Amino acid sequence: MTNKDLSRRAFINTAGKAGVMAGLTGSVLTTLANTKSQENGHLKSPPDPTPYTQRPLPYSYSALEPAIDAMTMEIHYTKHAATYAKNLSEAVEAEKVDTSKISLEDLLASISKYSVKMRNNAGGHYNHSLFWELMNSPGKTAAPSAALMTAIQRDFGSVDTLKTKFNDAAKGRFGSGWAWVIIKNDKKLDVVSTPNQDNPLMDLSDVKGQPLLGIDVWEHAYYLKYQNKRPDYITAWWSVLNWDYINTRFGKIS
Ligand code: MN
Repeated sequence: MTNKDLSRRAFINTAGKAGVMAGLTGSVLTTLANTKSQENGHLKSPPDPTPYTQRPLPYSYSALEPAIDAMTMEIHYTKHAATYAKNLSEAVEAEKVDTSKISLEDLLASISKYSVKMRNNAGGHYNHSLFWELMNSPGKTAAPSAALMTAIQRDFGSVDTLKTKFNDAAKGRFGSGWAWVIIKNDKKLDVVSTPNQDNPLMDLSDVKGQPLLGIDVWEHAYYLKYQNKRPDYITAWWSVLNWDYINTRFGKIS
């Protein structure tokens, strides 16, 4: 972690505490945090900016067994995801991005101005940072909140229809990429997929929105256990979702 990241974190922490002490509500703080993005015509950013460096994995490598095996998790986190973070830090330095001034989310929203290296690694780092948070130990199974359920029923009819659409997008992504549930600017939920390490925050993405949840369908995410059986991995992935996190995230970005 760089000094810049530390000072940025310290600032966010202090600002957050100051806000609470001043009696500001979460929604006011969120509005303040999002003002810049909205002025720029970008999609609304979530109120918790993703750091430019890798956060600790919020559980052990074996926590998602048997759906996702420990060796896959360890290699995925310590090799693949770590490399995106390392390459992102190189690109940020080479292209003189002031990470104390521009959030990763805002960088993604103007990614067309940067190099291919920045695109691949800013996307890779953001996508994986979100991916780890979306999962948790089996057994902690909650469900979509009432608010999220209402939105799912409004936009898909049912959770089963959403799952079918999402699974089809994940199975149908040719080669490497991601499938997402996004919240579009009109607040509606949609299912989309992006190639490589692109994501729907990117200005050059064909599909745009705020990711609510997403699945990594690169072979490195499942090949050790599932080999060519991507559909089996997708089915198992639903069983380890952290609905508490997803529900909170939905509340912040919807
Ligand atoms: Mn991956």
